[in-house]
Amino acid sequence: GGHVRFEDVRFGYEGERPILKGIDIEVAAGSTLAIVGPSGAGKSTIARLLYRFYDLSGGRITIDGQDIARVTQASLRASIGIVPQDTVLFNDTIGYNIGYGRAGATAEEIRAAARGAAIDRFIDSLPQGYESEVGERGLKLSGGEKQRVAIARTLLKDPPLLILDEATSALDSRTEAEILDTLGAVSARRTTITIAHRLSTIVDADQIVVLDAGRVAERGTHAELMARD
Ligand code: ADP
Ligand code: ADP
Repeated sequence: GGHVRFEDVRFGYEGERPILKGIDIEVAAGSTLAIVGPSGAGKSTIARLLYRFYDLSGGRITIDGQDIARVTQASLRASIGIVPQDTVLFNDTIGYNIGYGRAGATAEEIRAAARGAAIDRFIDSLPQGYESEVGERGLKLSGGEKQRVAIARTLLKDPPLLILDEATSALDSRTEAEILDTLGAVSARRTTITIAHRLSTIVDADQIVVLDAGRVAERGTHAELMARD
């Protein structure tokens, strides 16, 4: 699963001026789409529409052929994992933060997710898993470690569609490279939509869409776009 299609997607916040002015994008299941473009182009709005924070003004978005407006919000959101730019953590253990919202998750599954995101050194010492009162607290983590917690949450959720909304933009370049490495493993075989403003984060994307003022200005692979300029 995870075939995503935008067909003539139009949108404006609260009936205000149009933000997206007819977007057509197709993302094959298991492939990577990168969305780049200047600030204010509408990149994050696309992520919000996929997660159905807002309804479209026109056109439609389908996942595996299903109009997302016609599935329940719960099942839609269960199929999507988002790693945001700045992960906000509860002032509780790392394990709690990873398992939050996943009522059925066992301590062992949370540990496995933490290992997959390379954040396990904070929870391997916990004797009773994520409900433990001891252990490191989320607020002490560095920016890169917080992003690893968000990645671990995604691993626990195991969604067919992954959205990285400037997931590494706030990090220094060395930490960014480390996190991109981890994200590469997590996004393999998963449909991945990466929103980025640094081209270095998206060289490997199967498809790059350049968004400008709510329209697709250019599309192609990294090599194709470079050859055009
Ligand atoms: P990008 O991610 O490309 O920087 P956004 O999708 O965040 O762009 O924003 C696109 C446009 O929509 C901007 O002009 C922004 O000011 C506007 N916008 C974003 N969020 C809201 C909102 N909640 N209400 C009204 N306008 C918004
Ligand atoms: P998601 O579907 O993105 O994995 P959930 O459905 O579990 O998230 O969480 C519901 C809401 O709680 C979301 O708006 C999410 O941003 C918020 N949330 C989840 N985890 C945390 C956290 N550790 N700190 C703050 N807010 C959180």
